Amino acid sequence: TEELLIKSEKLSVVGQLAAGVAHEIRNPLTSLRGFVQLLQMKTTQFEDYFQIMLSELDRINDIVSEFMVIAKPQAVKFEMKDIHKIVHDVISLLETQAILSNIQIHTEFAQDLPFVKCQENQLKQVFINVLKNAMESMPGGGHILIQMMAVDGNLAIRFIDEGCGISEERIAMLGEPFYTTKEKGTGLGLMVCHKIMEAHRGSLRIHSQLEQGTTVELTLPLQSALDKL
Ligand code: ADP
Ligand code: MG
Repeated sequence: TEELLIKSEKLSVVGQLAAGVAHEIRNPLTSLRGFVQLLQMKTTQFEDYFQIMLSELDRINDIVSEFMVIAKPQAVKFEMKDIHKIVHDVISLLETQAILSNIQIHTEFAQDLPFVKCQENQLKQVFINVLKNAMESMPGGGHILIQMMAVDGNLAIRFIDEGCGISEERIAMLGEPFYTTKEKGTGLGLMVCHKIMEAHRGSLRIHSQLEQGTTVELTLPLQSALDKL
């Protein structure tokens, strides 16, 4: 079993690099995509090429979008929210995809969990990233368990999958920008998640065993540490 606390030093350099560039890339990208689609409508030829161009443009857009989260200044509004509900929203969002992949998502939520001061959209993005990773680790289907409970002044949210797991050598590389084992991966998801959890004074830990599965544990402080947010 491996445990990892992704280090924040991995983030700051990239975050700064990304700051100006990411935003500027998006506008020309949008216009490029528009013109590719326009050309596509004008001809029945080159259909394969058009598909490749569009999917590659979308890929650039995904990468840039994830960069923008990293680059975003931290002056976002924090509000008291029911994390319960946010996780349920995320499950609904990914439910169709789960069913298609033959994956069942189970929940074990403690009763009467307190609200947490957070930035809802950003947390949603973390849950989506983590849950998607769990789903992508089980190409043959299986079960994912999501647990939520209060532990030592924190709200802990665990995503437990029974997927491919991560080997010892690889676990050290998680959180490095662009580290991905997926054909269509960006290798930015976990880095973005960590950045967001850090902004919440929370944490992200990964425990994994090859061929057995992976547990991603997120924590969010319930009170005092958040007074400055
Ligand atoms: P991406 O999903 O685009 O590859 P991430 O940063 O989300 O980028 O994840 C990086 C890598 O970490 C993945 O490519 C995968 O190898 C590994 N990983 C993350 N979550 C899991 C998981 N639940 N099970 C197995 N491997 C995982
Ligand atoms: Mg991912």
